[in-house]
Amino acid sequence: MAERLPLFIGGEFIDSESNETLPVTDPATQEVLVDLPFATPQEIDRAVASAQETFAAWREVPTPERARLMLRYQDLLKKHQDDIARGLSRETGKTFADAQGDVWRGIEVVEHACNIASLMMGETVENVAGRIDSYSYTQPLGVCAGITPFNFPAMIPLWMFPIAIACGNTFVLKPSEQDPMTPNRLTELFVDAGAPDGVLQVIHGGKEQVDALLTHPDIRAISFVGSVPVAQHVYRTGTQHLKRVQAMAGAKNHMVVMPDANKDQVINNLVGSACGAAGQRCMAISVAVFVGEAAEWIPEIRDAMAKLEPGPWDQESSAYGPQITPQARERILGFIAAGKEEGADCMLDGSDCTVDGYPDGNWVGPTLFSNISTDMSIYKEEIFGPVLLCAETGSLDDAIGMINANPYGNGTSIFTSSGGAARKFQHEIDVGQVGINIPIPVPLPFFSFTGWRRSFFGDQHAYGKQAVKFYTETKTVTARWFDEAPAGGPNMTIRLS
Ligand code: NAD
Repeated sequence: MAERLPLFIGGEFIDSESNETLPVTDPATQEVLVDLPFATPQEIDRAVASAQETFAAWREVPTPERARLMLRYQDLLKKHQDDIARGLSRETGKTFADAQGDVWRGIEVVEHACNIASLMMGETVENVAGRIDSYSYTQPLGVCAGITPFNFPAMIPLWMFPIAIACGNTFVLKPSEQDPMTPNRLTELFVDAGAPDGVLQVIHGGKEQVDALLTHPDIRAISFVGSVPVAQHVYRTGTQHLKRVQAMAGAKNHMVVMPDANKDQVINNLVGSACGAAGQRCMAISVAVFVGEAAEWIPEIRDAMAKLEPGPWDQESSAYGPQITPQARERILGFIAAGKEEGADCMLDGSDCTVDGYPDGNWVGPTLFSNISTDMSIYKEEIFGPVLLCAETGSLDDAIGMINANPYGNGTSIFTSSGGAARKFQHEIDVGQVGINIPIPVPLPFFSFTGWRRSFFGDQHAYGKQAVKFYTETKTVTARWFDEAPAGGPNMTIRLS
């Protein structure tokens, strides 16, 4: 019998009373790593109640003290980053180097949360009327909740709870049920960093547990990352229950390749961004749009992709790992079959991929389609696998038109040596995150993760200044004083108390 993964409520790791469990498996072997009990309704209520009780005290902890917790946390995360990455690799199948990147990009958000006092600063205007001053504060909301997807089990939880908690909120995290061990490890380190009991709770589960959070009267804000249909459900249900919601969703990211681009850079960047993490990134490039004679490079791109060998996380030669579950693999194979039926040219077919020594892994080989059209299902849907579609257009205007007509707006990129083309692209493109000779333009945490259109529901985005706005209220004070207050005794030190 595999071990059961605990919940974390009120500062304690506890075994759930639930008998409903899901085996969490190694996607390269199907070995069961842990059994995951899904939290009961009573446990969810206890988690929210614990967060609610703790909020009263936590909001009073001075902001620099909250920042110091984040400083200790980022230090511990850095010390343990390789251990976290090893565990993450086992449960997701990501190569070790890619898992290290997942952890690192989360640590960067914690580093940013260390600066919370500056981020929470309000505004002041003196003399808005005779002897009257106005100023604003940002104050925490209360209990916030985060619901995260499988594909970044370190980075995405770290987009959420460190910022929310640094702002003075308390938090309930519901990680993906596919890879919940990494979030539990992040929680252990948060405890080791000195997080007070009740500031963070972790409950495990799936739809039922998410719905309990979305409808819970004591939760003020919900951060969600996942697929489009679930993001829409979360946004609708959460807002119907009068919560603040930010829901980051799925994508179909295009890279425009201009004929004046550096060919070798295009090939390396395109292949890496289409197939890295087995295509399981919301910012993966899944469509390349070749302008004019750049289309002549497609066969070389196919050849470069054909050299990629998927394999287990701890094997040096593995270019990428397996898909997260057998169901995810089946879904991708369904798309590859549909693409062929719909008449696209499958120049590289990864449907029959095998890896020596790992007969049970969820492998999909690199796959490339050309001759695609925008009404095909492989173009309209997010495939979330190592599958690249190649489209051709006669001009940059046509490429921009194609991308703007696609409903998703998470990320896009242009490869060119022309400043004029790049400037036109960045200005006219209807997508929230743009790379210029950068294939996966995920912003660093002093900016925000600004997906648009069907890739995002809400208004304030994840991390950066926008996340601080999301997790706080603004209070504006208009003040008039009639008398001078009497002076206190002298303070002989430089320290404020
Ligand atoms: P998912 O939507 O299946 O699951 C996300 C979360 O929602 C999980 O915690 C899951 O337990 C929960 N959930 C699943 N079905 C639910 C339902 N019917 N009702 C309520 N909750 C439900 O997504 P996933 O497969 O874990 O992750 C991949 C998706 O996430 C892709 O679409 C990817 O593009 C997207 N993603 C987006 C971003 C972004 O920032 N825009 C980042 C990473 C991943």
